[in-house]
This record gives sequence, structure tokens and C-alpha cells, in this order.
Amino acid sequence: MTSCSKQIVHSMHEYLDGDIQEEKKQELKFHIETCADCKQHFTELEKTIALVQSASHIEAPAGFTSRVMALLPREGKKVGIERWFR
Ligand SMILES: [Zn+2]
Repeated sequence: MTSCSKQIVHSMHEYLDGDIQEEKKQELKFHIETCADCKQHFTELEKTIALVQSASHIEAPAGFTSRVMALLPREGKKVGIERWFR
């Protein structure tokens, strides 16, 4: 447990919601690059979102998929998911 985790985790959620201030985003990016714990946590969060998103693909509101996918570093999963639903 790190002392920084609470604030940074909050920023992570804002970032993943696509609702973060530019200033906080830079702060978060810098922190993730320098803090191994938070970097790992952030990676886990992104993975979880990808899972939840793929499981609720059909019912996701318009724009949600592309918004989440835009946050993900790789495009590969999107192709795979679309294939399963065709
Ligand atoms: Zn940290």
C-alpha cells in the first residue's frame, strides 16, 4: 500500500472515464512512469475494462465502445470481439 495510491487511483478512474483534466492527465502519466505500483494497478484497470466492455458489448451505449477502445493501447482486441459477435 502506497501513500500516493488513493489520489492517483482516483485520477486513473477519471482518465479511464475519459473525463480528466489535461493537467491531471499529465500528472497521472508522470506518476505511472515513476511508480511501479501504480503502473501495475493502472494496467490491471485497463485489462478489467476491456473484459467488462467485451462482456457487455451488445448493450453498451453508442460511443462507449469506441471511447473505451480509444483508451486502449492496442487495436487487436476490437477485431477479435467483433468477430465473435458476427
Ligand atoms: Zn504511486
